[in-house]
Amino acid sequence: MRKSVLILNTGGTISMRATERGFAPDPDFLGRLKNIVADPAFAPGLDVQFAEMTPLLDSSNMEPGDWRRIADEITRLGEKADGVLLLHGTDTLAFTASALSFLLEPSRLPVIITGSQIPMSEADSDGLANVQGALAALAEDRSRDVFVWFGGRLMKGNRTTKVHSFGLAAFDAPRMRGRDAKPGELRAALPNVEEGRAMAQVGLLKLYPGISGAVVDALVDSGLQGLVMECYGAGNGPDLNTGFMAALKRAVDTGVVVVAVSQCHFGSVDLYRYATGRALADIGIISGSDMTVEAAVTKLQVLLSLTSDIPAVAEAMTQDLRGEVTIT
Ligand code: ASP
Repeated sequence: MRKSVLILNTGGTISMRATERGFAPDPDFLGRLKNIVADPAFAPGLDVQFAEMTPLLDSSNMEPGDWRRIADEITRLGEKADGVLLLHGTDTLAFTASALSFLLEPSRLPVIITGSQIPMSEADSDGLANVQGALAALAEDRSRDVFVWFGGRLMKGNRTTKVHSFGLAAFDAPRMRGRDAKPGELRAALPNVEEGRAMAQVGLLKLYPGISGAVVDALVDSGLQGLVMECYGAGNGPDLNTGFMAALKRAVDTGVVVVAVSQCHFGSVDLYRYATGRALADIGIISGSDMTVEAAVTKLQVLLSLTSDIPAVAEAMTQDLRGEVTIT
């Protein structure tokens, strides 16, 4: 049986053209793509529909509210589709892939996200190959999860990260594949969902030698509700730095959910391996295990946008809700 796929364009390099200010969204892109996809040999077995978000964005301009708008469009326009192919800029593609994995209930349809490093308007573009590969992946039976297709590889969306600024194999999923997402798990972990809450403010802080407590204070004073901290190695921090540790404790005590992920590309956080990690656990920092930065930030963002129940969010951050984290 033929499958119906919706291509939803959000912008990004794939749909750009050269302008005097550099690459910028091309208003004629979708028309050209439609002509190419109309060739029956391009996407065998698929009926393809097209839609576009406005405005088309360089994904550097994507904000958390855009993730919610994209999720709503996928839910609305994808009603009659068997799958969605989302075209997106590569810069924040891994954030959107992770965010959608938490925002969309994994019961309706598979979503694959792709883009390109070189605009489709250029001769040597990787865009068409990525679109064709992603469509072929949607033509097969696929779990109803969020995936990234890029450079000939299909990866679980909330495990991916951008690893190359211009190479065509731009994405990787370095910390394991992750299991398929299943319906109902996120809501089960978060019993007191409050509809209509605004998107939360979540920050990201990379540790570096010499970091001061004032840096943490400034972030917390900006009104953050959640903070992802990129710790050293197995989840370690400068526990001898009393100003820094006191500022972190103040953050946790004022209700900021602080989650530790690792600066390393491989492995995971274990706050109980070193005394310098244990010190973080003792003041209430939560282990993000092997979550990518993108998964941790978007998971915290989505959970804090669903409830004001801080202990429930803290607990849910330690659970595997969408195959985004390995619980050992
Ligand atoms: N700056 C572009 C974007 O993220 C890069 C790309 O698409 O490859 O939209």
